[in-house]
Amino acid sequence: LHSGKTALITGSTSGIGKAVAKALAKEGANVILNGLTKPGEDEKLVEEFKSEFGVDVGFSGADLTDPKAIEGLIGYAQRDFGGVDILVNNAGVQHVAPVDEFPVEKWNLIIALNLSAAFHTTRLVMGQMKEKGWGRIINTASAHALVASPYKSAYVAAKHGIAGLTKVVALEGAQHGVRCNAICPGYVHTPLVDAQIADTAKARGISEEEVKQNVLLAAQPTKEFVTVEQVGAMAVFLTSPAANQINGALMQMDGGWVAQ
Ligand code: NAD
Repeated sequence: LHSGKTALITGSTSGIGKAVAKALAKEGANVILNGLTKPGEDEKLVEEFKSEFGVDVGFSGADLTDPKAIEGLIGYAQRDFGGVDILVNNAGVQHVAPVDEFPVEKWNLIIALNLSAAFHTTRLVMGQMKEKGWGRIINTASAHALVASPYKSAYVAAKHGIAGLTKVVALEGAQHGVRCNAICPGYVHTPLVDAQIADTAKARGISEEEVKQNVLLAAQPTKEFVTVEQVGAMAVFLTSPAANQINGALMQMDGGWVAQ
């Protein structure tokens, strides 16, 4: 489906981003990976992708809370890969605390990473996509782009923000062959959720098992976690010709959570 194209997937050293990168590489896209890594981890990851998919693989450790680093990342994509055809804005973190105790630096971090970073990557690739007459932008939003939960003020604000950004970019790209959509997963079992289970247990004073059953999956009617492979498959679908008229959509993958 995508041979000769380049996909940039932010936050792809782990969890959902890594699975989306794999799904796109499997379709023949060259991929640029990004994320915060331990020393040596990035080389290992690049080798893993190269040998598994036989595509060109790049890596950038750009810290996406820094707009200058994002400019560097897009510059690298342009120089070494001839630009970005598929942009997946996925990097994100969570912090769980009541709003009256929410650490200001966590608020600023989450808004910068989960929302502003997507604005910066998008503003920097939109021109090339319009020129080429083809581009796909996928934002990893969340069920929390559509509904709220307590103790997640920054995350829910950022994800509602990314839903708005998705719609605006969809309208601006509509007649230029550019599509922009968001994927809104419910709970996906990844390292981010593992950390959240521990934090929520602390915030609510209950056990981690109770958090899983009574807090996380309580919202998800199927009582099952979404898998990262399912999100990867959705990303591939959104970049396929069948999805050509899907634009500005917030694709729910949440076992029925926001249907309630
Ligand atoms: P994860 O913790 O497994 O991965 C997060 C990725 O972001 C990693 O690659 C990490 O290195 C990268 N990252 C973190 N800080 C960064 C920074 N400053 N600069 C660059 N990269 C940075 O998380 P995940 O669960 O795979 O989440 C990925 C996305 O999916 C996030 O936007 C998250 O909000 C969203 N999401 C997750 C779930 C879930 O249940 N796991 C549900 C809905 C939405």
